[in-house]
This record gives sequence, structure tokens and C-alpha cells, in this order.
Amino acid sequence: MAEGVQGIEAFIAGMPKAELHVHHVGSASPRVVAELAARHAGRTEVPADPEALAKYFTFTDFAHFIEVYLSVVDLIRDAEDVRSLTYGVAEDMARQNIRYAELTVTPYSSTRRGIPDVAFMEAIEDARLAAERELGVVLRWCFDIPGEAGLASAEETARLALDLAPAGLVSFGLGGPEIGVPRPQFKPYFDRARAAGLHSVPHAGESTGPETVWDAIRVLGAERIGHGTQSVKDPALVDYLGEHRIPLEVCPTSNLATRVVERIEDHPIRQMVDAGLLVTVNSDDPPMFGTDLNTEYAVAAKLLGLDETGIAALARNAVEASFLDQAAKRRLTGEIDAYLAGWGATA
Ligand SMILES: [Zn+2]
Repeated sequence: MAEGVQGIEAFIAGMPKAELHVHHVGSASPRVVAELAARHAGRTEVPADPEALAKYFTFTDFAHFIEVYLSVVDLIRDAEDVRSLTYGVAEDMARQNIRYAELTVTPYSSTRRGIPDVAFMEAIEDARLAAERELGVVLRWCFDIPGEAGLASAEETARLALDLAPAGLVSFGLGGPEIGVPRPQFKPYFDRARAAGLHSVPHAGESTGPETVWDAIRVLGAERIGHGTQSVKDPALVDYLGEHRIPLEVCPTSNLATRVVERIEDHPIRQMVDAGLLVTVNSDDPPMFGTDLNTEYAVAAKLLGLDETGIAALARNAVEASFLDQAAKRRLTGEIDAYLAGWGATA
């Protein structure tokens, strides 16, 4: 077991993985952005040259991150852009041996900008089916409300989720800033989504305290918590999360980039695991935070002092916490187990 860092990294890279907290536009890698920028050359300030893009993606601070994020949003102008982005994200996932992902999509940002709703749904579904067929990456959607855009965006997201429900849609979420955007106001939309059979997965306890996680559970019916970083500050909440097996979608590097934690060593993932919580590891907006899922597993392994067996257990957590059906869960868990066993035999 006493292998070098490289051994662990190779193990993680080859391991079949599931990811539960990762955003659609936020997953656009420089490669994908270059493709979009080339298509809109002359009508965007985003460079299409990969080297210039790498520089463009080097964030100086959080405000700069937001600026770059919005300029990428601005490149998603028609259904073909949506399809390229989605398929490009799946290609980047395939390279990391991600077999299954619940991708958080914010359809409101696209329909508000004039992409027809039906064309948007067809584009993501077309990319989803192609990704499964050609890349072996199974995608499912979480449609999320951009909280900062208010109740009108919630109404529109609920309409899109319920009236146009694409086949891959499994859950309903809430993203954006938490400060100044109380969770309870979104209750009617979550009620409708849940009544239609969608799972509830709001972001909570990222930049605000444990009370936001309580709101997410009690008011929005959260079945999983996006981040939940601050949960450890409330022992009663930790007990509740443990007792009800409510998983946390932990995104360590994102929490550092947005200064939810000051230093990565301060991340409460260790407390979460020690308390017996169902912890999953995720990348959130990977290229924007200079990371990917493999890196997040390496970060978590270091913080938790895990060897290959422990890392595989984390990967199994993501499968357990996913919205796959039982047969698909067993298959993917079986792949992880076989990989671990094979690694032990060859290492
Ligand atoms: Zn997120």
C-alpha cells in the first residue's frame, strides 16, 4: 500500500468514477471554449487560440472568475453551441474514466438569451445519447434555478423541467449565491418538481451556515446537499445527515477558490467522514477552478490519508448517492471493485 503519489494518481485516473456535482457551462474546458470561440470569431473577445486561452483561464481573483464564466456563457448562442458544449464536456469526462455524471444544467441562462426551449432540450439530449453510445459516459440532468435571478427564473426553470422534461432529467436544483438568497422562497417550485418525481438537490451550506442546510432539508426536501461545507458547525445537523444518510456533494478545490475555506487543510471533509457522513467528491466548475475530478480525488485522498482501498470506497459513495437505479448501481460498483482487485494484483 505504501506507494508514491504517482501510484495513487495513476490509480485514481484509471478508476471508474461517478460525479454528482458538476456544472454544464462551468465544465467548459479551454479546448471546448476554443471550439466555441472559433465558431463565433469576430463576435467575441474570447481567444480561440489554445495558448491564449490558457492565459485567459488563469484567474486572478474571484471577480475575474465570474467575468470569464460570463464570457463563456456568452458563447452559448444557439442549439449547436449547446450540443458542442455538452458533448465536449462528456469527452473530457471520458478521458478521466467518469462513467456516470449528473450534470447540473441551468436552462434558464440559455432560454433567456433566446435559444428556443425545445431546441435546447433536443441539443442536450442529442449530446447525451451520443456520449453514451460513442464514449460510454452516461449523463443525467439536474436542472437548477440560478438563485440570484430570482423567482422569475425559478418559475421558468420549473416550467422547463416539468413541461419539457427531457428523458435524462432526474433532479431539480438551486445554485448561485446563498447570501441574500434565502432558500425557503423556492419551496413552491421544489414542491412541484418533487411531485413530478424529480429529486431535490439544492446547493446549501456553501457560503452560509448550517441553517441553510436545514432549510434545504426541511423546506425544499433535499435528498442530497450541494456542498454542505458548513454542516459540521452544527452537531445536530451532522447527526441528522448521518441518520438519514443524506449525502454531501463535497467540492474541495471549489471551496478553496471561492474562499469558503482559507486553506485546503482547513476543509472539513475529515470531520464529515469521521462523523460517518456519506461524503462524495466532486469538481463543481472544474476548468474554472483549475481542477478536474481526478485532482479532487487526489486532494481528498491527501486530506483523508487514504490508500487505494479508501479511494475506491469514496468512489462507491458517489454511486450509492447517485440517482441511478439499483441494477446500474450494482454494475458500476462492481466495476470499481474489479478495478481495485485488479490493481492489487498488478501493483
Ligand atoms: Zn455548484
